[in-house]
Amino acid sequence: LAKERGRNQARFFDHGLSRRYSERLELEGRLRQAVEARQLALYYQPQVDTLSGELIGMEALIRWCQPDGSMVPPDKFIPIAEECGLIVPIGAWVLREACRQQQAWLQEGISRVPVGVNLSARQFDDTTLLATIQAALAESGLPPAYLDLELTESLVMGNPEHTRQVLAECKQLGLQLSVDDFGTGYSSLSYLKRFPIDRLKIDRSFIADIVTEPDDAAIAQTIIAMAHTLRLEVIAEGVETEAQLALLRRWRCDAYQGYLCSRPLPADEMTKLLRQLRATRQVALANI
Ligand code: C2E
Ligand code: MG
Ligand code: MG
Ligand code: MG
Repeated sequence: LAKERGRNQARFFDHGLSRRYSERLELEGRLRQAVEARQLALYYQPQVDTLSGELIGMEALIRWCQPDGSMVPPDKFIPIAEECGLIVPIGAWVLREACRQQQAWLQEGISRVPVGVNLSARQFDDTTLLATIQAALAESGLPPAYLDLELTESLVMGNPEHTRQVLAECKQLGLQLSVDDFGTGYSSLSYLKRFPIDRLKIDRSFIADIVTEPDDAAIAQTIIAMAHTLRLEVIAEGVETEAQLALLRRWRCDAYQGYLCSRPLPADEMTKLLRQLRATRQVALANI
């Protein structure tokens, strides 16, 4: 009986696996077409000084816009793009597009802050990365200080020697470097300090419950204090309430990003916000 059940179970699992496999293949095929059909877009989310409310940066976040108007979030397709290698051409497009847009805002005189671009491990290990970045800068004319590369902790720690070398070259180009989703990986701050990093972004999962969970509050506060000791700037991700912002201010967190200020905006809406900001300076005021 047990054997019989085992066989049934095995069959059940095989069925589930092959279904998921064919779904992935189908998604991969549609993603390939999406790249060719230019269905990818960048949204931009403001990053704001916790004390003054001024815009200090923004992050470019990719979206896949389907012909029917619906949107596939990056968590649904970036992992697949990473596995099949499509992330390299997609990532190159993201770099070019973010630089082009940022340079347009700069020339209109409405942005004086850097744009953050997310990089995957697969891109980071690709030997063409630096050439891709240089081409994006040259093509757009964007000064390198206006480009901020966001790298995850696991990417940075995966191969420390390779990382150190590539980051040093990025720094030599004049780019800004941020560690994304900080706290979810396993690096120590002192180790990170050996890389030429400018900024830590505290992962949303630590920020979510700082108002109600003393442990989370202690972790966030500790990350902020230690980062400052190491002369790194700190940004809190996923800030949704005034109560969270009040704590972050008290702990002297430099900046935040989150729905409290703004969701990620399509480029044309970001343009409107930037034009408004030229007059008012403060994102919080401009949004009311
Ligand atoms: P991430 O880089 O950590 O980006 C922050 C994510 O948090 C974004 O999700 C953003 O929309 C979301 N977020 C911002 N504020 C809040 C908030 O107050 N509450 C909540 N619940 N969420 C908030 P998104 O746009 O879905 O992106 C998810 C992830 O996909 C990103 O996480 C990043 O790891 C990846 N990703 C996005 N664009 C790219 C890209 O161009 N290249 C690569 N390699 N990865 C990307
Ligand atoms: Mg990011
Ligand atoms: Mg993040
Ligand atoms: Mg993330």
